[in-house]
Amino acid sequence: MKILIINAGSSSLKYQLIDMNGEKVIAKGLVERIGIEGSKLTHRYGQDGKYELTVPMKDHTAAMGHVLDALQHKEHGVIQSIDEIGAVGHRVLHGGEKITQSTLIDDYVMSVIEEYIPLGPLHNPANLMGIRACKAVMPNTPMVAVFDTAFHQTMPPKAYLYGIPLKYYQELGIRRYGFHGTSHRYIAGEITKRLGTPHSKVVICHLGNGSSLSACVDGKCQDTSMGLTPLEGVLMGTRSGSLDPAVVQFISEREGMTATQVVNMLNKQSGLLALSQRSSDMRDVYVGAEEGDEKCKVTLDVWAYGVKKYIGAYAAAMGGLDAIVFTAGIGENDYRSRASVCEGLEFLGVKLDPDKNKALRGAEGVISAPDSKVQVWVIPTNEELAIARDTLALAGK
Ligand code: ADP
Repeated sequence: MKILIINAGSSSLKYQLIDMNGEKVIAKGLVERIGIEGSKLTHRYGQDGKYELTVPMKDHTAAMGHVLDALQHKEHGVIQSIDEIGAVGHRVLHGGEKITQSTLIDDYVMSVIEEYIPLGPLHNPANLMGIRACKAVMPNTPMVAVFDTAFHQTMPPKAYLYGIPLKYYQELGIRRYGFHGTSHRYIAGEITKRLGTPHSKVVICHLGNGSSLSACVDGKCQDTSMGLTPLEGVLMGTRSGSLDPAVVQFISEREGMTATQVVNMLNKQSGLLALSQRSSDMRDVYVGAEEGDEKCKVTLDVWAYGVKKYIGAYAAAMGGLDAIVFTAGIGENDYRSRASVCEGLEFLGVKLDPDKNKALRGAEGVISAPDSKVQVWVIPTNEELAIARDTLALAGK
């Protein structure tokens, strides 16, 4: 069966067509600037086939129409007819406490995505638009929603409750939800297979532009670093991660900014970018540090120290540690970041093999020494494949 994966943003739409017979990506692409002047589709297929189309696309339904046209295009297409698409899997941000696993999309699921718009104000409306656009152009194709928050719903109250008046949880749903759940779940499944036992205590480090860690016991999430929103946790590309909430009030009063403006600053102008005063991209921060830029060196220290603290905290929370897994842009590609995170964790039984670590980039492998009590792995994440597998399981005939 061929499955179409859709990841709809407010003005963008990413897609992949995966042939589940062999789990191969046969085409993928991106529509940018939907509803804005200069709408553009970039479609990739085969080994290195590329087709670009710049035409006005007033909404997601128009964009979906062009995606389906590209997939069936007589030169650049990969299918003869949309009937070949057996099911569609949609990435959805927030399912709150109501959705704990991937699910076939029906009116109830649509209403839950709508209900959680206040907690995912940028993404949930876009995800709904993506689903509606698909329904409009392929009304008889089964659709599955895969939620970023679902994997973390196994967290116990001690991990998800914030120490604020309970009414805010009860009435407004304010609690830790966690994000990147599809990635954490995919990695939890993969590492469980590699360890060869269903019983394990694993810290998953998804370190990219956005970063989050999770503590997984027997493959289930016990805790995770992102919270009500993806702002909490470790230092990220442009996000501050956790800080004293009084900082918001202090800056707001001193600078005459509203709370919304301060939180925007914490989301978009903080993190690596703010401390290095150079870039939100980890590669650039390393270049700066190599050139002797002290701000870049401190930025790298703050970043690695923060990630290390979460690993220690989660080892304590789980009462042990069998494995650490690195994934996402930084985790998969950067041996220096992995080395600095693991440095000093020998007391927990973590012993890296520096050569294996250095040699591994963008591929799977063990980077710990054979006598390391804790196995350290690099496993590339694949959120689209995880969505496709769920879609096949729920909608496959
Ligand atoms: P997103 O959260 O946007 O999906 P990614 O998972 O693609 O982000 O990660 C992007 C981050 O990965 C950037 O900070 C980038 O610098 C970093 N990265 C990618 N390749 C390397 C590399 N070879 N060395 C260091 N950092 C890298």
